[in-house]
Amino acid sequence: MTRLKPSRRDILKMTAAAPALTLSATQSFALGGPQGGQAPGYFRFTLGEAKLTVISDGNLSLAASTAGINADPAEVKAFMIRHFMDTETLKSHTNHVVIELGDAVVLVDVGSGNRFADSAGRMLENLEAAGIDYDSITHVVLTHAHPDHIWGIRDDFDEAIFPEAQYFMGAFEHDWWTTPDRVNMVSEGLQQLVAGAVNSLGADYLQLNTVEDGFEVVPGMTMISTPGHTLGHMSLHIESNGEQLIVLGDVARNAYIDFERPEWVGSPDMDPEQTVATRKRILDMAAADRIAVLGYHFPFPGVGQVMREGEAYRYVPALWHW
Ligand SMILES: [Zn+2]
Repeated sequence: MTRLKPSRRDILKMTAAAPALTLSATQSFALGGPQGGQAPGYFRFTLGEAKLTVISDGNLSLAASTAGINADPAEVKAFMIRHFMDTETLKSHTNHVVIELGDAVVLVDVGSGNRFADSAGRMLENLEAAGIDYDSITHVVLTHAHPDHIWGIRDDFDEAIFPEAQYFMGAFEHDWWTTPDRVNMVSEGLQQLVAGAVNSLGADYLQLNTVEDGFEVVPGMTMISTPGHTLGHMSLHIESNGEQLIVLGDVARNAYIDFERPEWVGSPDMDPEQTVATRKRILDMAAADRIAVLGYHFPFPGVGQVMREGEAYRYVPALWHW
């Protein structure tokens, strides 16, 4: 498809190619910020024949009071202290993944863009750091329509960031957010999220397909229904040469709380009962069948295994390897 207007990334590419003569030394130092000294936010590993690259979109902070809202606050606070967590702020990472298998290059979720939090929206620059060409992405799987997962779908010209790719999202998820007048049916706190979802899903040149449980994106990659956190949330199951991994999305958001206290829910979980049921079903399956998991909000790179521990679970992070 030919784009009629230059997109934000075209402009970014042009800017990157131009000599940086307009910036004074002080300005470029300020713009460089603390990122200059950090390792780039990507991590590669293999699963059977598939090559996976975790791409960070940055990090997010929520009030700690959004966690364990159905539990005794003193118990939640004690849990956080015991796990060396900040008791005021719940910090999380945002781990996208690019899966290269055969001719397919599949990306899961598109991040916050520049619309949600200053500390997020780094997916495109980290894709570039990982040497993955934007135009090589053939499929984009959307787990759900929350801001940190889809507000980055369009550039400043309202165009889809990967106009050549086919996008896939659960039909129920799509229809729920885009129901006419939904914005007037939800609580005030959700209204902005509805508006953001509608604008995101209405991006120009977006080739969006809505799908059901069990939809095969490409051979070896199947979308599975995992509702609760949002009502039509979906995850991605990957299998290659007998090795399996589930890209959880937000089935579990915290690698400590959601494993050790799987019955606790947070305020972003839209259907608490379903959130818990889905979480237990998927973590049980991962533990029993030794399926690796990738958590969008787990500590980067967010890949590991699930161990059963009595009625609960433990997250066992994969060993970083060079
Ligand atoms: Zn999320």
